[in-house]
Amino acid sequence: MCLKQRLNHILPEARIKTRLIDLVGYASDAGFYHLIPKAVVQPVNEEEIISLFQFSNNCKIPLVFRAGGTSLSGQSITDGILVDLSRFWNKILIENDGDTVRVQPGVIGAIANVYLKKFNRKIGPDPSSINSAMMGGIISNNASGMCCGVKHNSYHTTQFIRFILPDGKSFSAENSLDYKRFNKECMFLAEELIDIRETILSSQELHEKIRGKYKTKNTVGYSLNAFLDYSEPLDIFSHLLVGGEGTLAFISEAVLQTIPDLPFKATALLYYPDIYAACQAILPLVGVGAEMVELMDRAALRSIENMPGIDPSVKTLPETAAAMLIEFQEADLTSLESRVNEFLNITKEFSLLNRPEFTRDPGKRDFLWKVRKGLFPAVGAVRSKGTTVILEDIAFPVDLLGNAILDLQALFVKYHYTNAIIFGHAKDGNIHFVITQSFDKPADVFRYDQFIREVVELVVDKYKGTLKAEHGTGRNMAPFVETEWGLDAYKIMSRIKAASDPMNLLNPGVIINNDPDIHVKNLKSLPAVEEEVDKCIECGYCEHKCPSRDITLTPRRRIVVRRELVRLKKTGDHVKYRELLKQYQYDGLETCAVDGLCASVCPVDINTGDLVKRLRKENHSAVGNKFALVLAKEFRLVESLVCFALKSGRLVNRVAGEKAMARLTKAVRKMIPTFPLWSNQLENPPELGILEKIHSDPENQTTVVYFPTCISRVLGSSAEGRKNIMEAFLSVAEKAGISVVIPKNISGSCCGQIFSSKGFRDAYHFTANAWMEELWTTSCEGKYSVVVDVSSCTYTLQHLRPALSESNQLLFDRLKIMDSIEFLCDWVLPGSRVKQKKDKIILHPVCSVDKMGIEYKFRKVAAFYAREVVVPVKAGCCGMAGDRGFLFPELTESATLDEAAEVKESDYDGYYSSAKTCEMAMSEAVNKNYESILHLVDDCTE
Ligand SMILES: Cc1cc2nc3c(=O)[nH]c(=O)nc-3n(C[C@H](O)[C@H](O)[C@H](O)COP(=O)(O)OP(=O)(O)OC[C@H]3O[C@@H](n4cnc5c(N)ncnc54)[C@H](O)[C@@H]3O)c2cc1C
Ligand code: SF4
Ligand code: SF4
Repeated sequence: MCLKQRLNHILPEARIKTRLIDLVGYASDAGFYHLIPKAVVQPVNEEEIISLFQFSNNCKIPLVFRAGGTSLSGQSITDGILVDLSRFWNKILIENDGDTVRVQPGVIGAIANVYLKKFNRKIGPDPSSINSAMMGGIISNNASGMCCGVKHNSYHTTQFIRFILPDGKSFSAENSLDYKRFNKECMFLAEELIDIRETILSSQELHEKIRGKYKTKNTVGYSLNAFLDYSEPLDIFSHLLVGGEGTLAFISEAVLQTIPDLPFKATALLYYPDIYAACQAILPLVGVGAEMVELMDRAALRSIENMPGIDPSVKTLPETAAAMLIEFQEADLTSLESRVNEFLNITKEFSLLNRPEFTRDPGKRDFLWKVRKGLFPAVGAVRSKGTTVILEDIAFPVDLLGNAILDLQALFVKYHYTNAIIFGHAKDGNIHFVITQSFDKPADVFRYDQFIREVVELVVDKYKGTLKAEHGTGRNMAPFVETEWGLDAYKIMSRIKAASDPMNLLNPGVIINNDPDIHVKNLKSLPAVEEEVDKCIECGYCEHKCPSRDITLTPRRRIVVRRELVRLKKTGDHVKYRELLKQYQYDGLETCAVDGLCASVCPVDINTGDLVKRLRKENHSAVGNKFALVLAKEFRLVESLVCFALKSGRLVNRVAGEKAMARLTKAVRKMIPTFPLWSNQLENPPELGILEKIHSDPENQTTVVYFPTCISRVLGSSAEGRKNIMEAFLSVAEKAGISVVIPKNISGSCCGQIFSSKGFRDAYHFTANAWMEELWTTSCEGKYSVVVDVSSCTYTLQHLRPALSESNQLLFDRLKIMDSIEFLCDWVLPGSRVKQKKDKIILHPVCSVDKMGIEYKFRKVAAFYAREVVVPVKAGCCGMAGDRGFLFPELTESATLDEAAEVKESDYDGYYSSAKTCEMAMSEAVNKNYESILHLVDDCTE
């Protein structure tokens, strides 16, 4: 029986992935190690976890848990069974008025903070990966960040953990009866823990070493401070799981104490003549209460000096300069001002190159933090093709940091890491350094090995620092745990592992590993693949945004698979290559919505959709391309045919029953797989006569060109008796006294998205140029702004330039194209007379609204006409992508699942969005009628 069949006794087939593309896709986390799992499973409850443990024990196959997969030390990969928790373990409960939060391991850290925001609280750990990292990983890595220091890291803020041991027994310190049960049912483990505690307490040296090591951040080895902080075996074990990197037990739930989210903040960027001078300022800064003190060396500054918006003086700083980004945070403005003043009073102690200027403006502060967070990716983005970007994470005693950095920089020179940069959380003596290199040749590996061994010597022997302050030991520092901690402590750690996981099947090789060279084994090669994605650092930041993440691939996995294809080609494994390429067609290409949402969160600006579009284009035959061009040229006819088909479809449904068209199109699809499926959200097309009746007033100063998109022209209102979108737009404009001009040849015109998303370049270029010429005339050569009533089309039109001829590009630059949301916010709202407000409405911001950065306007319009506006925490791309949802409805179904579940928890007076096909997808998912925000304004104004 194959592995899948055996696992099928535990989980349904749909949640066991063993196809080549799945295994290859999950072989990477954000670190620089690579292991291909035997299977990927997605359990949904504790029973299934227990069965998986039994299975692992019986078959001697290791189990490794993965949450967000953003780990950097190689701890969320395996060649055993990978247990993916990102999909089903995302329950969250705010308790005690926000003082505590109960989470499952698949809850994204930032999402927990969104729920806590209204209580002015947040979780303690603040890794810079918090938008993608999940609670299982945040706790298991004992993650921390710029602000939390040691005090508010996962270890100190985790109150209770519910866990399952490899033998299937489950406990939680929250349950008082579990203390006795743990001691009784896990006698050996409990006795080992008591014995270890006694050993530590009886050795002053060990005791002091442990206390000393946790004064600064430290994630090397197990959290031995648990033995000093707790006496009950259950408490000790629960806290060993923090930072346990999934090697001891499964965390199924945790309760965290939250911390105040101080609302008043002042941030400043300080420049120093050299790194040593900067380091001398750390302790005084901490003394005056700086919450964040982020250090950047000259090389780090150089890596971001060309970033748009950056202070141009950065380029002219002396060659030895260094910078520090500092922030004060307080509960009220007076306290904040006094903190800042206290700091200004001591500035003469520092040899600053600039006058400190504090900003309290959220936009400016966000920018400064964006710059700081952009350092690691900035190096990743400019690295040579085929090289890996390595982010190390060490800590030194703060008072020695200056000297330590100078020594480290000397090592960069010695080992020819010419583009290495240093930055970090200076307050905690924690610095990160980034180097890039390839691992293609043995000499490359040797160089890294020698370098890292010297770094270990420097950190441990010379400065008594730590080798991993916050990223976890993983495989990367496993050979050096004993070096850092000494033999006695290492033996204790080995005993902990052996007592909890006697068969060594839970993330084996991570933290405890007898192989002295494991840090240079299973290294990831990053071969150059395609221009669009070569910069990818496999960080995983994009995964949670992607609408196809739960049915096929995420952007990271799309890229990882492309890299594997290159590797297979290189090694001549043609059979696997062909198999993978075949699977990529559906998983990689067809189910990508090409919405580009991945680019909005990617630290190196990769839009995987661009790659997909190009690959789709390359898949088209010359005949296909020609046919698409004919369709583009005859789009008026196409539009009429679609209207005819819709009318016929509705008729068929009326005569043969509501499901007739769905059945019919499903049957056709069996023969023609790309045939679109019928949706009952499709209504009769609207009458276009209304557009012809418009009399524009050329004298009116407030005139706009209204471009009703082809979607609006062919899809009518989805609710009986409601206006269609064009009627709603014209009504709103009339009430606002805005004169409207309609393009003369509106019928048959289109933004071209339908062609561009499928990679039909010629058809897209033809459509784009035709549209441009039409709009140029209608807008009186750019005098009037153009308003578009579907946000995804607005986005396409705003980004039309590359598809235009040179002369049309010049015209395009003079054209103002705005979305209906901007029209409502900037043109209609100022003079609007509200007839009645809705009580509580819900919004679905489509991805183009996110990408255009106008979500705040969307909320503003909604809040003008409703007392309460809700945007679901889990709002995301619906996967409709124009027409992709008709071709692959499973994509839309999967993409809308989480958001729909959240929306269904309550009732609303209105459901609004700004793109018709997305409204259809959400209506289908929620079973309520979503409509354009134009309808809200029309309904609520006089
Ligand atoms: C660009 C970048 C910046 C980063 N910045 C920081 C930073 O500032 N601070 C910081 O601390 N880290 C940082 N990291 C590292 C990483 O993002 C964090 O450690 C994060 O907390 C890992 O969370 P995850 O959900 O991705 O965990 P994963 O990588 O999925 O897993 C981490 C570990 O937890 C284990 N695990 C997961 N769930 C469970 C469970 N339920 N039970 C038992 N074990 C489990 C896994 O087996 C693995 O060993 C950064 C990473 C990147 C790529
Ligand atoms: S374009 Fe959209 S669907 Fe495609 S990979 Fe990026 S986020 Fe996913
Ligand atoms: S595409 Fe960007 S966000 Fe996604 S894994 Fe690659 S670098 Fe990270």
